[in-house]
Order: sequence, then structure tokens, then C-alpha cells
Amino acid sequence: MSGQFRLDSPDAPLAPNTRVLFDLDSGGDTGTGTQLRFVDQRMFGGLSLARGGAELPAEVAHIARDPFDPQFDLTGTVRRLRARRTGIKRALLDQQLVSGIGNIYADEALWLARTHYARGTWSLSAAKAREVLLAANAVMTKALAAGGTSFDALYVDVNGSSGYFDRALAVYGQEGRPCPRCGALVRREPFMNRSSYRCPHCQRAPIASARAV
Ligand SMILES: [Zn+2]
Repeated sequence: MSGQFRLDSPDAPLAPNTRVLFDLDSGGDTGTGTQLRFVDQRMFGGLSLARGGAELPAEVAHIARDPFDPQFDLTGTVRRLRARRTGIKRALLDQQLVSGIGNIYADEALWLARTHYARGTWSLSAAKAREVLLAANAVMTKALAAGGTSFDALYVDVNGSSGYFDRALAVYGQEGRPCPRCGALVRREPFMNRSSYRCPHCQRAPIASARAV
């Protein structure tokens, strides 16, 4: 959260709050390679070294694959998602089911797939669950192409540049503005101590039996 990895030349000045430097071996002469720098303004980050490599540290072994992982199992994720008794947005944010989808991209994906955040995972057809996951992938693909979503100067890529996907957001942060698809005014509603943004027309509240509390 609010930390960055930066790729810099070893002789480039250090950004404030640089905590860890990795000298990357380019395979050639030493001293001419690139440095991977971990910058952590809020000191929420950590570093652990697993000797021998390969095995995931226990702290992260429970984290599911993200949708860009070549080994991401879409069919298996759809199956596990529909076996749950929770709301679709909670499921999208659950790193043990699928990782990498945060609050912003969950709202955008649900808008794209015309699905209300409180819709029960058990009530989704396999096709709809698949559509939601593919929507998340599509939204994040577009966001990556735009360099990410930047709300302050701390959200930067490895070159220190801010993304501009926030200008392309359909519903997130757009309370009171028209839905780009139908023109209804976007609503903001409390959700897990944060907010959910949705179009009241495209993302209708589910009936009681299909609603997760
Ligand atoms: Zn709409």
C-alpha cells in the first residue's frame, strides 16, 4: 500500500524513503546493471528471504493467482466462486479466491458486467460468474495500458510515472455523474467500511434470496 518498486540506474539519486536496494545482475560487468529499489513511505512493506528460492513464503502461500497469471484457472475460479455464500464484490476482493482485484477495479468490473455488488455468488450462473471475472481482466488490462490508476503522487510505476486510468473510470469516484452506458446517476453506497459505486439502472439491487448481507 503506497509503496513502490522503481527501476533506476545505480548512480541515480535515491528517492526519499528508499528502504531496500537490489543490484540486478545483467549477466555482464558488475556495476553497470540496473537497481531495483523498494520505496516505502508508510513502512507497511516487508522483505523476507527464502533461501533456495522457488517455494512461496508461508506468509503469501494462501494468495490465489491473479487473472494475468498464465496458470490462472478461470473455470476453477468460477466453480469456487459459485460455491461460496457471499456477495460477488466480497468474493472479488478475497485474495484467497483471486488476487489483484482491488476496490476500484471490482467496482468497474461489476459495472461492466452489469452486476450489483451484493449479488450472492451462489445465485450467479456459471456464465455470469465468468463474465464478471473476464470483466475484471478487461478493466485491469485497460488500466495497465493507461499506466494504472493514480489518486496521489505515491501511485507510480517502476519509472516513477503516474497512470491516468482514473480519467477512464465509469463509476468509481463518479457519484452523481451519469453512467457512461445509460445516463442514470451513479450512486455511492457504504461497503465494508469503504464505498461501492454503481449505476442504479445497469446494476439493479438483487432480490432478497439472491442478496448477500
Ligand atoms: Zn447505467
